[in-house]
Amino acid sequence: MTTTASGKTRVPAIDGWFTTGDEPALLASRCEACGTYVFPPGPTWCPNPACSSTAFDEVRLGRRGRVWSFTDARYQPPPPFRAPEPYEPFAIAAVELVAEQLVVLGQVVGDVGCDDLAVGDEVELVVDTLFEDDDHEYLVWKWKPVATGVDGEGRADG
Ligand SMILES: [Zn+2]
Repeated sequence: MTTTASGKTRVPAIDGWFTTGDEPALLASRCEACGTYVFPPGPTWCPNPACSSTAFDEVRLGRRGRVWSFTDARYQPPPPFRAPEPYEPFAIAAVELVAEQLVVLGQVVGDVGCDDLAVGDEVELVVDTLFEDDDHEYLVWKWKPVATGVDGEGRADG
């Protein structure tokens, strides 16, 4: 837990779905029997239809993946989604984590729109502000394009 320059406390918008800090990561459950990854964590039963296990390990997912699909949120999603006021459209990406073979939806960082994205782009997980109130800044994971070094000109990494 950290404090912003404006004195607000930074807290996860959802407890137990991701870590914060310098190298944030999504938290998931991994079936002890068949190795299937489940995000968000905390399933009752393994989603693999060929497996009836109810035992899971909590694991951190890899922080990089590739854009599998993306769209933009022109209109404010319904509650329980929370957005800053006034609402500003943002891009949403479905990102495939290569190692875990899991597709995870997430917002794309604010200055990156659909015009800047392409299927197959490598992205990295960051933690950023979802919305704020008087005392808190609520955090969520977002996807941030990784400079590739090939067409990375103009894309700052950090
Ligand atoms: Zn299983």
